[in-house]
Amino acid sequence: MSEVKDADEAAPRLNLYQCKECLHIICTVDRDEGVTPFMLGCRAPSPCRGWMESSFYRVFPGLKPTWEWYRPTDEERASLKPGEREHVERGGLLIRPIMTEKAKAQIADAAKKAAWSRQ
Ligand SMILES: [Zn+2]
Repeated sequence: MSEVKDADEAAPRLNLYQCKECLHIICTVDRDEGVTPFMLGCRAPSPCRGWMESSFYRVFPGLKPTWEWYRPTDEERASLKPGEREHVERGGLLIRPIMTEKAKAQIADAAKKAAWSRQ
């Protein structure tokens, strides 16, 4: 007996982008419904001015996404650059690195300390 897979909507929508210059690959996941671009400025850790191209959601198994596509909240939208806001208003998603629980805790901790020092 083979195991029964969950419904398709439960599967994360993963995609790959590869830089044409440095060949760096990132794996992304769609957190919200929306449009993602075909081309993306290179996200390699080393400075690179190349462009990354989408694999059109063709991914190989066992990948862990490190970037996420998300729909910004109204509050986040207010601080976007005009070009980004236009993209979002046309149904586009934005990309950001996926934060680990540890990174989130560090940021929350730093914010708490900053609030305390202002008193
Ligand atoms: Zn690159």
